[in-house]
Amino acid sequence: MPTPPAPDPSLRWDALTARWCLLAAHRRDTPRDMTSRLDALRDASHCPFCPGHERQTDPSTEERLGPDGRWVARAVTNRFPMMADGAPTGRTLPHEVFRERAAVGAHEVIVETREHDADLSDLDAGALAVVLDLHRSRHRALAQRPDAAAVLLFKNRGPRSGASLRHPHSQVLTCPVVPPGVRRRDAVAARHHRRRGSSLVQWLVEAEVEAGERVVALDPHFVALCPWASARSHEAWIVPRAPIPHLGATPDALLPPLAAMLRDTLRRVRRVSGDADYNILLRQPARARWEEPWAHWFLEIQVRRGGDAGFELSSGMSCTVFSPEESAALMRSADAL
Ligand SMILES: [Zn+2]
Repeated sequence: MPTPPAPDPSLRWDALTARWCLLAAHRRDTPRDMTSRLDALRDASHCPFCPGHERQTDPSTEERLGPDGRWVARAVTNRFPMMADGAPTGRTLPHEVFRERAAVGAHEVIVETREHDADLSDLDAGALAVVLDLHRSRHRALAQRPDAAAVLLFKNRGPRSGASLRHPHSQVLTCPVVPPGVRRRDAVAARHHRRRGSSLVQWLVEAEVEAGERVVALDPHFVALCPWASARSHEAWIVPRAPIPHLGATPDALLPPLAAMLRDTLRRVRRVSGDADYNILLRQPARARWEEPWAHWFLEIQVRRGGDAGFELSSGMSCTVFSPEESAALMRSADAL
């Protein structure tokens, strides 16, 4: 029996936790070459992100070219978007406990290199700065949408991170509601600012730099550290030392040092974790909070060794087996090259 076409993505309200949940049925058709470790070794012959396969994606929304005129990084519309420009469902639901809204928004993929088997940290710092410039540019473009309550940017690397394709890529998308994780962080930062008159992220970073034992690397613009309350072993953050409210506001001059710090830190994380899968997450406030004095973006690298287990699912609490002090010491002594 033919499967009916999947409906546009929608957000459903969980009345018990007061949180939105995303239903994106058409993503079950997402192409996958990484359903297992063995599959991850597949060749590039079917990869939609490899050079020569550009027709398997939509045309670039934006790209960066190398000296030979070929693209070195490109952004394309995600063909299996978590948010889409569909019409609102407009249907009548039988009870007020059932709330939903259309998941309208934009969702793009940024192909970060021509090299199918590379890791982002295999790029030299100059090439990585070009990729970060494209990230910033697509972030700026998508943030213009009037329906963008939040802009999310993340990278999945390896099957345990949720990646479905091996070729290095990241994703940027808008969300029509403030996601619960962003809402909670913003509320905590706003409360801290009301009580103490300072930026919470800056307060924490200054304390970490002063303490020193969890600092991995430091330059005049950025600090790499393993946070005091790490959610996962070998978690690392890269934080601008002076507040920058959102990624789009990052000045040109900071892209090269950011690229150098990200490359170095990622290589240390890979070395210490035995080249485990990872996510990189952009942490920043909701769109409506970008003018707040406490707004301050940073990057999180999360090492992923497996899905959350029963303890994490039942408690909502994370559990680590390496202290961040141990992780930072290991990363400082690890050869990043
Ligand atoms: Zn590829």
